[in-house]
Amino acid sequence: MNDPIDLPTLNARFETASATEILQWTFQRFPAERVVFSTSFGAEGMALMHILVSMGHIPRIFTIDTGRNFQETYEVWNETVQRWGVAIESYSPDPEDLSKLLDGKGPNLFYESVENRKRCCHVRKVRPLLRALKGSDVWMAALRRDQGESRREIPIIDWNETHQLYKVCPLANWLEENVWTYIRSNDVPYNQLYDRGFMTIGCAPCTRPVRPGEGLRSGRWWWEKEEAKECGIHIEDGKVVRKRKLDFQI
Ligand code: SF4
Repeated sequence: MNDPIDLPTLNARFETASATEILQWTFQRFPAERVVFSTSFGAEGMALMHILVSMGHIPRIFTIDTGRNFQETYEVWNETVQRWGVAIESYSPDPEDLSKLLDGKGPNLFYESVENRKRCCHVRKVRPLLRALKGSDVWMAALRRDQGESRREIPIIDWNETHQLYKVCPLANWLEENVWTYIRSNDVPYNQLYDRGFMTIGCAPCTRPVRPGEGLRSGRWWWEKEEAKECGIHIEDGKVVRKRKLDFQI
């Protein structure tokens, strides 16, 4: 039986630790098959994947294929599999949920209201996430604090009340320039949309390039106010919450 995890002490220690050290601790504490890494093939996700591949510690890896991704995202996914030979599980929206969502509202309902947008994110992202995380003790994600206001406080390791597992963000204190220095120095594949002004990459109808001086995540759901800009997958990070109700009226 392992000792309980003292999160404040561990987080204080991790603040000055490298991503590799954080990952080493994770794989010493938890068996690799109980750790799951979620990626949407963003720049930081690719950097973290390269660190994992270099260490020879490959957890379960999954992505959520919302059905509305850019072709460039499929290309970098394909290149990742071919270059590194990693198995990437793909989770898609449930067809019945999708029919309920689209019947009567049409495929581009997200532009009409925040509520419709959240409904679409719930069906295409949150519900597949629930299936993907099942049976894991640790959820690893490549979130960074400087990605926007909603991520400013994310801890490196935290207990996730909603999904009842630990969430580890080894790159939480990396800056954008650290990510790109890592990618360039290690010849890591990346989504070609970054070369066309995109700063973060989500679904095609909800992501656009960012203009000089705009925030990193300002290209996501650009028609909404800043505080609404999360899809529901990482909404809990850095906040104290009680177990969240996981269902939602589609
Ligand atoms: S990002 Fe847009 S298309 Fe993708 S799930 Fe959310 S609302 Fe739907």
